[in-house]
Amino acid sequence: MKLLLHTCCAPCSVYCIQKLRKDNIEPVIYWYNPNIHPYMEYKARRDTLKEYTKSIGVEAIFEENYGLREFCKNVIDDLDNRCQYCYRTRLEKTVQYAKENGYDAFCTTLLISPYQNHEKLKQTGEELEKEYGIHFYYQDFREGFRQGQNEARELGLYMQKYCGCIFSEEIRYYNHNQAKPDIPMDLKTIKEEKPQIKKIENKEAYMDMLLEADPSKASIMKYLNDSDVYGLKLNDEIISLAVILHIDNSTLELKNLVTKEKYRNKGYAKRLLKHLCGNYKQKYDKMIVETTENNIPFYVKQGFDKYEKTIKNYFIDNYNEEIKDGDLICTDMIYYSKDLKKR
Ligand code: SF4
Repeated sequence: MKLLLHTCCAPCSVYCIQKLRKDNIEPVIYWYNPNIHPYMEYKARRDTLKEYTKSIGVEAIFEENYGLREFCKNVIDDLDNRCQYCYRTRLEKTVQYAKENGYDAFCTTLLISPYQNHEKLKQTGEELEKEYGIHFYYQDFREGFRQGQNEARELGLYMQKYCGCIFSEEIRYYNHNQAKPDIPMDLKTIKEEKPQIKKIENKEAYMDMLLEADPSKASIMKYLNDSDVYGLKLNDEIISLAVILHIDNSTLELKNLVTKEKYRNKGYAKRLLKHLCGNYKQKYDKMIVETTENNIPFYVKQGFDKYEKTIKNYFIDNYNEEIKDGDLICTDMIYYSKDLKKR
């Protein structure tokens, strides 16, 4: 099969190329990424890929387009949905090149990243397959994300710190430099209590809160009694909960992680999880989490970066009503794990 592999960067290509070669497919690399800004970043990623592809003897085509202006013009009115435009633009250029140059199929290394909207990428590829009559070679490369990133690091490849566009760089900036709001002078003397973590014994008393993360009481009851429940307490109120199930002597599963709505996006769940992982690593090797597509980036950032498996149509088969996570209608349950011993 003659396969054109759209490639976003060298680190993401490492595992994808290895996997395709293992499956007896020799891909041709196709660089087309007008979404990467500013120019020095674009150049660093492109040149790293040039060197890497040369070093492993894979053919590579570089379609030059540093597309700052055009990209910004096309996404500025709907920044929250910019990734959709970004996926479509890059994959459409790839399928066009594939069609004009006699390829049988096209694919993308974006399918390895747990930070991307995997389902949206798959859907875009399938739409383009229909429009252009070139097969979209879909592969869930996410299982090799950690392996590929580790190898890339060992090879000394340039590793980017943000997705690509200037807006993703802005988000990274905000995440790292979030200015603390000024406390009015008259409140400066009131000290907020430090959050504390405690084990919860009367687990069922917190059912309403647990239902916010898992909307089926029957499902919660299947794991609650056999699990340990921990709460993060702030000013006498439990504001976050984590439910941990013991699977075997070396493995745990995070069954439920929830924060009361008014305390969300302030890092409390992250703090609770970090504390528990630190404690459990004395006795256990691995913690698994079951999650939906939307929450993968959160868990990967907390070290749950090893893809384990997907249970297709889990939410359709196990719940009577439609389960939503933000705008996303949940279908598949996806499992990732964290190596608790890893520093
Ligand atoms: S965040 Fe990444 S995928 Fe989304 S628009 Fe920016 S570069 Fe493209």
